[in-house]
Amino acid sequence: MSSYKRLFDEKNNQNWLKVSLGISLTKTALEPFVANVIEQFQNDGYKSILQKKCLLPGVSCRLCSTQNVIQCPTQGICKYLRNRTCKFHQNHTYRQCPSKICNDFREWIQIHHRFGGPSWRNSDAGRWSTDWWEIAKCYLPPDGYFGVHTVEMSDFNGLISVIMNCKYFQNYFTDNLAADSNVCTKVREIGRKLRHAPGLLVTDEDWKSCSDALKDLLQDPKYMKGDNHTKDAVDQLNKLEQDTLKVSDEEVLKVLQDSAETLKRLIEDSNIIKEKT
Ligand SMILES: [Zn+2]
Ligand SMILES: [Zn+2]
Repeated sequence: MSSYKRLFDEKNNQNWLKVSLGISLTKTALEPFVANVIEQFQNDGYKSILQKKCLLPGVSCRLCSTQNVIQCPTQGICKYLRNRTCKFHQNHTYRQCPSKICNDFREWIQIHHRFGGPSWRNSDAGRWSTDWWEIAKCYLPPDGYFGVHTVEMSDFNGLISVIMNCKYFQNYFTDNLAADSNVCTKVREIGRKLRHAPGLLVTDEDWKSCSDALKDLLQDPKYMKGDNHTKDAVDQLNKLEQDTLKVSDEEVLKVLQDSAETLKRLIEDSNIIKEKT
């Protein structure tokens, strides 16, 4: 018998755990995909900047802070203190990048954001020319990701946000990610529902629709369907549906810890934001 059945006696609790496991194994399958696409995206941006500015290959910049490349005032970032100085730009003001790279990277990130509002506060502009994850962080939700330093450290919601917010990902999807309802909005909804499931209870019907939505994402024909990681995840989801997936105690524990960590981080970061604003 699978261990989640021993740990959770109530059927609807078992469904909650199934959804959590389904999200966890989908997230694991998405990690290399998101990493590969963002690395390619950063590489494309870097090459186009070198070309535009006639710079030599290999040139990078470590001199700029995020404050240096964001103009003041920028909506949602700049906050004015009583003496009319901006809290965000208090120590570093806006200027042109001395290496002629970072301002163009800001443009590149901005024009590829689906909703026009990159999460600048998550990111360190001084690393944009060398570290693709710092670029990815601009597409994470604005709150709750201050301390997320790798693709693996991000939670499911974070990875889905990167895919949805960065328009470059459309190159890898058949489904229209600009549509109000698409494969990504549907799975994002699952994460929300799960976080708000009263008493950790999920009905059979909800579990089935969650599993279907996860599989729809993982089987998008353009790229996902042919990827080995996503194929494995779909196999595991099918087994989870049929109650034949072998799940270790460690995996169950990891899922529970991840859920607790996500909630803890959201609470901590909402406190940090309250203090900062
Ligand atoms: Zn400012
Ligand atoms: Zn710079």
